[in-house]
Amino acid sequence: MARLEGKIAIVTGGSRGIGEAIVRTLCEEGAFVIFTYNNNEEKAKSLVKELKAKGYFLQACPLDLNNYSSIENFNDVIISKQSNLDILINNAGISKVGLFMDASKSEVDEMINTNLTGSILLSQFAVKKMIDKKKGSIVNISSIWGNVGASCEVLYSATKGGINIFTKALAKELGPSGIRVNAVAPGVIDTEMNKWMNETDRMNLEQEIPLDRFGDTKEVAKVVSFLCSDESSYVTGQIITVDGGMI
Ligand code: NAP
Repeated sequence: MARLEGKIAIVTGGSRGIGEAIVRTLCEEGAFVIFTYNNNEEKAKSLVKELKAKGYFLQACPLDLNNYSSIENFNDVIISKQSNLDILINNAGISKVGLFMDASKSEVDEMINTNLTGSILLSQFAVKKMIDKKKGSIVNISSIWGNVGASCEVLYSATKGGINIFTKALAKELGPSGIRVNAVAPGVIDTEMNKWMNETDRMNLEQEIPLDRFGDTKEVAKVVSFLCSDESSYVTGQIITVDGGMI
């Protein structure tokens, strides 16, 4: 039996990148996956079509974490309707490279809403569903910059540092209710988020990584899947770094 057989999972930002790899992996592991997209409706629909044709069970829904009514709507239409919810993966996020002093108020708000507040609010809605069953797993996608901070990604680092401590604190509060909360902190993973780099930037950065390359999205997804499964039944409150040895 696949290790997530019969589980219902929600994955935010599943239309591309790390989220897409998580959707694929959780489907392969036997879960019913509900994933969200923001702008890429076409990409989300084609992912659903492709994976349904392979016999997997999944559904895509719109969600904008920078818009509170969209979060409420997602709860009304999806989360509150689930009789069981086993897994929540808070993956969707944005990054912006630039000087801290150049960020406008709306850029600050967008970064915090999308990367931090949205995950907190979705976790509240999800926990309402998990708590009666005394079982559940929440996995937050953080970043190594949430552990050590990055110049020119100050706001991003702040949101991911917030995610790390949110993960640890929530794990303590929800442990007695049987709900585990962990985070995965990727290093540099080959997705559209890093497409701003030119060849030289990329080569310079690769030299800082002991494994000598950027990570693949599947390498993050496999760790997420482990954290969702009963194989990690005694793991909670952890930030698992997946960075090729970078920090
Ligand atoms: P990506 O390729 O840029 O994909 C981002 C995903 O988030 C997309 O599915 C996008 O949806 C969704 N999204 C963006 N803004 C949103 C919003 N306002 N509301 C809801 N969803 C939104 O990013 P990625 O590289 O896969 O990153 C995924 C997660 O891993 C993020 O939390 C990121 O911080 C973290 N991470 C990435 C790296 C890396 O090197 N790539 C490293 C460390 C951590 P649409 O496409 O539909 O718009």
